[in-house]
Formats: sequence, structure tokens, C-alpha cells
Amino acid sequence: MNKETKNGVTYMTFDSLKKANVKHGFSTRLGGVSTGVYDSLNLGFNRGDSDDNVRENYRRISAALDMNYQRMCLSKQTHTTNVIVVDEKDAGNGIIRPLPYDDVDGLITNVKDMPLVTFYADCVPLYFYDPINEVVALSHSGWRGTVGKIGKITIEKMSQHFGTNPKDVLCCIAPSICKNCYEVSADVADEFIRAFGPENKDRLLRPSIFNPQDADKYMLDLWEACKLVFLEAGVPESNIEITDYCTRCNPKLFYSHRIMGANRGSLAAFISL
Ligand SMILES: [Zn+2]
Repeated sequence: MNKETKNGVTYMTFDSLKKANVKHGFSTRLGGVSTGVYDSLNLGFNRGDSDDNVRENYRRISAALDMNYQRMCLSKQTHTTNVIVVDEKDAGNGIIRPLPYDDVDGLITNVKDMPLVTFYADCVPLYFYDPINEVVALSHSGWRGTVGKIGKITIEKMSQHFGTNPKDVLCCIAPSICKNCYEVSADVADEFIRAFGPENKDRLLRPSIFNPQDADKYMLDLWEACKLVFLEAGVPESNIEITDYCTRCNPKLFYSHRIMGANRGSLAAFISL
């Protein structure tokens, strides 16, 4: 994964999507106008930051990514596994008009010049590109979405609507919380063992680094879990690119919910045909 800066705005890109000539990026905190806990490139409306500042931040990241701000289509994330196909009428959702939907954690489109946008601060951003049918998608895979296998649901929906073959899909995992930072309780660990099978327990879960005495605390590897979801969906391992940047390990570069709690800005994922 690459860290790039354009006009003072710093963002992350993937080698595989760059090679495929797909416009995309994952934002950082750097290069915006917001202050305080939102310092500085907050892309979340309704987090307590001024709308004017958030809009200016959108203008800046859009210019850096060479994307059309007025035609962006935003998600409405609530930790579901709901993924929808959006089309021309959705250009500008959340930017020039209120969102016409609720509970949407994944977006798919084949519309050109309509950037998809999803939001993060530790949860796992998933990127999808089908080069054969020219389809892009983003989905938000927190622990609930990962247990629910939203990555697989996204690919299945791409297949249903556009004839996508999972073997062709490029999948990328963007900056989010790493396996050395993400401590979960036994009830969450149990859900992962149920979803991925006991044979994958050691691949996904380790005793807690922070509370080694506590048998009810585990470290969870969400990136590995998302990779298993892609493989289960039929994506070849060589098509999967995983970030080496953790949001919690890099608090100057990213907002982290585990560090800042709810008083923080939002990072965003962008992809456009
Ligand atoms: Zn970390």
C-alpha cells in the first residue's frame, strides 16, 4: 500500500488498483481544514464538526483523487450486511441531496464517474473491482460485518447483477485495526469460531496481549478473517491485497475509535470507474 500526497492532502492507494487504472484512495487525517478532535481531514457529516469544514475537506480529497465531488454516492453504515447496487439516480447521494436509504454498509455500481464513499475509524474497508464487467464496490466490514461475511455478500451481489466471476475480482483491504491492537471479548471470539469454523480459530484468535491473564480476552485478526471471506467467495489469493497500515498504531495519520472513542472525525474509502 502506498502513501501519497497531492496539494497537501495525504491518502493511501493500492498497487493492484493503480495497475488496473482504477481511481481510488483511502483518506488520512492530513490535509483538511477541521480542528480539535476532527483535525483535520474529517469526512463524516453529523459528527459534530461544521458542515462547511467537512464540505471543504471533500473538495480537497476529491481534487487530490481527481474525482467528481458533486457525483459522489455515500453509504449509511449501521454495521449491517446490507449491500445495494446504486445507479445514475444515486449520483450525489449524501452530497447534493439527503441519503434516500438507511442501513447500507456496502455499495456496488457500474456507473462511470460516480465515486462510491464509505466511512471508517478502525473497521475494515473492503474494495472490489471486476475488470471484465467494469464494476466497482466498497463495503464496511467491522466485526459484525465480518462475521456476517459482507465481503462474500458483496461479490455474490456483483455476480447476480453484473455477471461477475469471483475469479476476476481484485479485492483490497484498507487501513484499519491490526491483530496486535484489536482485543475482543469471548462472546465476539465465539461468533468468529462459529462463522469460520474451529479449524480457523488459531488463524484468527490469540490470547490477549493486553490482558494475558484473562482467558475471556482475545486478539482478533480481522484482516485474516476478511481474507478468508474473499477466499470462500472464490477470489484467488493472488488477487487479494492487504494493507500494512493499522489505524490504531498510527494515530497521527488516522482516526481510531479505539483511541479516540466517538469524539473524532471519519476516514473515508473512495473508488470510481
Ligand atoms: Zn495496530
